[in-house]
Amino acid sequence: MWSFETDPEYQKVLDWADEFVREEVEPLDLAFPHQQFVPLDGKRREAIDPLKEEVRRRGLWATHLGADLGGQGYGQLKLALLNEILGRSQWAPIIFGCQAPDTGNAEIIAHYGTEEQKQRYLRPLLDGELFSCYSMTEPHAGADPTMFTTSAVRDGDDWVINGWKFFSSNAATASFLIVMVVTNPDVSAYQGMSMFLVPTDTPGVTIERNVGLYGEREGEGSHALIHYDNVRVPSEALLGGEGQAFAIAQTRLGGGRIHHAMRTIGLSRKALDMMCERALSRETQGSRLSDKQFVQGYIADSYAQLLQFRLMVLYTAWEIDKYNDYKKVRKDIAAVKVVMPTVLHDIAWRAMQVHGALGVTNEVPFLGMVTGAAVMGLADGPTEVHKTTVAKQVLRDHRPAEGMWPSEWIPAKREAAQAKYADFIEHEVGNL
Ligand SMILES: Cc1cc2nc3c(=O)[nH]c(=O)nc-3n(C[C@H](O)[C@H](O)[C@H](O)COP(=O)(O)OP(=O)(O)OC[C@H]3O[C@@H](n4cnc5c(N)ncnc54)[C@H](O)[C@@H]3O)c2cc1C
Repeated sequence: MWSFETDPEYQKVLDWADEFVREEVEPLDLAFPHQQFVPLDGKRREAIDPLKEEVRRRGLWATHLGADLGGQGYGQLKLALLNEILGRSQWAPIIFGCQAPDTGNAEIIAHYGTEEQKQRYLRPLLDGELFSCYSMTEPHAGADPTMFTTSAVRDGDDWVINGWKFFSSNAATASFLIVMVVTNPDVSAYQGMSMFLVPTDTPGVTIERNVGLYGEREGEGSHALIHYDNVRVPSEALLGGEGQAFAIAQTRLGGGRIHHAMRTIGLSRKALDMMCERALSRETQGSRLSDKQFVQGYIADSYAQLLQFRLMVLYTAWEIDKYNDYKKVRKDIAAVKVVMPTVLHDIAWRAMQVHGALGVTNEVPFLGMVTGAAVMGLADGPTEVHKTTVAKQVLRDHRPAEGMWPSEWIPAKREAAQAKYADFIEHEVGNL
């Protein structure tokens, strides 16, 4: 059965969330900018806790996880509809307990963690009381994890980690790090890498610097270069089994990527809404901007691009719910990841242009969105790598042509068609 309608009961929930985010949460982006991942202190806690409480009361806290883990078990499709709304605001995912990278990190601890690891890390993570960091990329290698060299070596009952990690987001405020390391250099990376849960205050963990993105002020950066220098952890710190890192990484990044895409719909829609408002508000050379065909083209292209992307994301979310196996949906998750930066970039860029000089200032959000689009083309793997994944998966469903000519070569097909309908063709000729 195909259906494009939201269940009316859930639509009421979404309507509430939409108003709540616009009225209560979006103002946090301006009142407490860049502080989403800073643990709460007295005054901010007074502002934030009641909002989280309201979300919990409505049953919308951590909806990405099943009921056994404190979520609602809504599945990805319902989550997509909610995440579209949350995408408007940087604080919204925190207020709803579903912010990256913590969602992905919680997901893998839920999947692969021991009971003890769940008690220690997952519970407080789900309660929104601490933050986590995913520490995988290295200074010399990101897109190709088989080149990672940070290692963990057994020493009695402990493991000792040595190496460097780069762009470990939120490490500065995270309570623990999920670190991907080589544990057996003698086998292929796919079997020889493992993940460890490492408290950030473990001796030997040093944040050398927090790299900022373009436009962020000195000291605002949140992507850490980390030196792991003889970091000793007990064997209970191993997540999943030895050699499981690649399998775990796929689980994590699959979820993370589609959640980013859901929120990107909301952010792109915000840019489109702003573009339309401006086009209707501003007059030049005798008519409103909305009457100029170029501007109408911007609006139409943006609307169509967003609609295509939204349907693609919702379909992929539906597939994840249906198969409950990221591997089966790998092609479409990768395709979503490929399309996502372009959609946000194009719509934000057009909205910026329609706003004239105001569009490029720090009084409107467009250049932040354009930078965000550039980030999306890199974080969780570069676009080129995801295109390769899509192409490989698509090619799996195809075979080489049997002879010298393509199987759709018209002369051969025409000959076959004429042979198939020979009786009728002769009959028609006879009637002429
Ligand atoms: C804002 C942000 C947050 C991030 N957060 C985290 C985090 O929390 N934890 C973490 O571990 N990492 C994080 N990353 C790192 C991210 O995962 C890497 O940047 C990404 O995997 C690419 O690695 P790289 O930067 O080393 O680029 P490289 O691997 O050096 O690639 C550079 C470029 O080479 C080209 N290229 C690479 N491979 C191919 C290929 N196979 N075919 C064709 N062209 C190719 C692409 O153009 C690519 O952009 C974050 C990155 C950003 C920007």
